This record gives sequence, C-alpha cells and structure tokens, in this order.
Amino acid sequence: MSTAATSLHVKGEAVDIGHSDATVWLSKHGAEYGLCQIYRNEPWHYELRPEAIDHGCPRMYADPTQDPRTQQ
Ligand SMILES: [Zn+2]
Repeated sequence: MSTAATSLHVKGEAVDIGHSDATVWLSKHGAEYGLCQIYRNEPWHYELRPEAIDHGCPRMYADPTQDPRTQQ
C-alpha cells in the first residue's frame, strides 16, 4: 500500500475490506452508501464519497500513483 493511501486511513477517510464477499457487495451497493472503490488495482480499498449517493462514484484511478493526492 502506498504512503498516501495509508495516510488516508489515518485520517479515517479510507477503509480496506478484508472479506471478498464484502468487496463484491460493496462494488454493487457501496455508492448507495457513499462508499467507493478508488483504485482499479485495489478492490479492497474503499473511501467515503458522500456525493456518490446522488451522483455515483467517480471514475477509478488505475492505481494510487495516478491519484493527485499522491503527487504532493
Ligand atoms: Zn487502503
């Protein structure tokens, strides 16, 4: 896991899902609850995106290096 993703966990804005049934469920229903997969290569990593409840999740980054938050 990248340093940036780890810092998001520290801020309480990200969570890693361990159980594969949970990731399958979240991939279908997470947006309804404002939880989005952010990185295509990290199907276990979800973040709080309250706007997803109304507008759906934003487009995924291929991996954390594509995330502008890791460019700082
Ligand atoms: Zn993570």
